[in-house]
Amino acid sequence: MEIYFDNAATTKPRKEVIDKMLPYITEKYGNPSSIYKIARENKEAVDEARQAVAEAINAKPNEIYFTAGGSESDNWALKGIADSYSDKGKHIITTAIEHHAILHTCEYLESKGFEVTYLPVDEYGIISVEELKSAIREDTILISVMFANNEIGSVQPIAEIGKIAREKGIVFHTDAVQAVGHLPIDVEEMNIDLLSLSGHKLYGPKGIGALYVRKGIKLKPFIHGGAQERGRRAGTENVPGIVGLGEAVRLASAEMEEERTRLVSLRDRLIEGILTSIPHSRLNGHPEKRLPGNVNISFEFIEGESMLLLLDMKGICASSGSACTSGSLDPSHVLLAIGLPHEKAHGSLRLTLGHFNTDEDVDVVLRELPPIVQRLREMSPLYEEYLKNK
Ligand SMILES: *Cc1c(COP(=O)(O)O)cnc(C)c1O
Repeated sequence: MEIYFDNAATTKPRKEVIDKMLPYITEKYGNPSSIYKIARENKEAVDEARQAVAEAINAKPNEIYFTAGGSESDNWALKGIADSYSDKGKHIITTAIEHHAILHTCEYLESKGFEVTYLPVDEYGIISVEELKSAIREDTILISVMFANNEIGSVQPIAEIGKIAREKGIVFHTDAVQAVGHLPIDVEEMNIDLLSLSGHKLYGPKGIGALYVRKGIKLKPFIHGGAQERGRRAGTENVPGIVGLGEAVRLASAEMEEERTRLVSLRDRLIEGILTSIPHSRLNGHPEKRLPGNVNISFEFIEGESMLLLLDMKGICASSGSACTSGSLDPSHVLLAIGLPHEKAHGSLRLTLGHFNTDEDVDVVLRELPPIVQRLREMSPLYEEYLKNK
């Protein structure tokens, strides 16, 4: 049995979620736009899911638009706001540590004549509210800052950012894909205008997500076609996915406090254990302002990728700080942004805990990881050099 410590990449769908989805894949296949019974049932199921998603973030159901996932929500928010507000200005503010769904969309918008300011972060991966304030210009139309980072778990001061954006009359979007269902979110209290979320990061299905759009915000449709999603996102609804997302969000919200306490304690035991048993290791991200399930540690003198292979041989699924999987040898832009030199960024390991992880899983990693690091260091020319010069 594998030990799954990669919950920031995706999560295992919960059984309650699958059970709730199944009838909508088999018998209840009607098109929600039709008028007979099996169609009406589907429409009701979609409405119920919309209600659940809205409640989880203190929005209204008619402010929730279902999409095909976090990336689509991010694309729609940025391109849609850029398109709808370009007569007011062409300046966008975001951060250097966003997910590629934001960063690559910003690059695209730059190619279309928009100007983007990428706010730096401190050594913990958190932006400065003062720097944000001074980046704001007359022609700034959008601020997009992620709620919590997928690599190092750092949580941004979202309520403060929302307050500033509201005072200046600038639209505020947050990529909350890693946060929904894990941290409390209130779009009213935090002055959030748009928010992206995704099903598969909170024990729901893949390929389904949502975009919250505050009533009154102008946002052009992303997919043109039928009248689904109040004419703003065409296409026959992914009913099984929507039902699954609704159930996943409902469960995660109901169990959030309990789950958060449990994960924080597992997380901190894992961090403590690794830092004390393995020399030349350091925690990346903020010690407290971090996602309940996120552990990200750099080990000097070794490569993250080789750690992953040896962990895999022990049945442990984890992720590293270099983006080799995406066909590039560049270290993560997030680790570079917090000031790690290339070598240290390359030697990083991300272990992300979730709903199905236990105390025993943590014990296994604390037992298996130190000899793996030791073995790799014994083969490392960098380590040899370090010992020689000590
Ligand atoms: C996973 C992720 C996304 C993309 O979501 P998909 O549903 O996989 O498209 C966007 N932003 C963050 C922060 C993520 O972790």
